[in-house]
Amino acid sequence: MNKVEISDGRDLEAVIPAVLDDYGLDPYEFRIYGRLARRCGSGGTAWESVSSMAIACGMGEQKAKQCLRLLCIVGLVERRSRPGHSSEYLLLPASGWSDPSDLKGARREASYHPNVEIAPDKPRYRRPTIPEWAEIRQSVFIRDAYTCQYCGASDQKLHCDHILPMSRGGTNELSNLATACKACNLSKGSKTAKEWKGGAS
Ligand SMILES: [Zn+2]
Repeated sequence: MNKVEISDGRDLEAVIPAVLDDYGLDPYEFRIYGRLARRCGSGGTAWESVSSMAIACGMGEQKAKQCLRLLCIVGLVERRSRPGHSSEYLLLPASGWSDPSDLKGARREASYHPNVEIAPDKPRYRRPTIPEWAEIRQSVFIRDAYTCQYCGASDQKLHCDHILPMSRGGTNELSNLATACKACNLSKGSKTAKEWKGGAS
């Protein structure tokens, strides 16, 4: 690897393509790109760990990962995973970069889809909208025949219970939802069904 050590902004200009000035990266993304560029030198690759990159660039690790994902999505950088080692990053020529107008969408993608990742983040789930939730709830009630799945009551006000509570990483998928009477739902609270039944017996 041709490692180029750079101490001032003037040298930095030599490794960062001028076209990048107008590309529209935010300061964090630019910082990460600059770090990679200096590490890569001419035609090389950089394989610094994300945590040390984050420290060097004065940002949190999550922010650094987000910037790396963004740079990969818009085609400025290619990530090559090396099993058992930190990933390797390669700077790609400007001819292959996405249009700058794609940056906004790419940032959204970079913050929600941790697919370019060293250690995968916990998957994120979009919260259903109120009408979506009403539909989900309704289909749970129908599936469960309007009957509390914990005590069998069917003449009570019904709630839609998260079997594994959201606060414990549960999702809004149908498999994690159950019809519960108000009393059972309130009593169960943020416990899992197992903890709740264990505690009640
Ligand atoms: Zn019940």
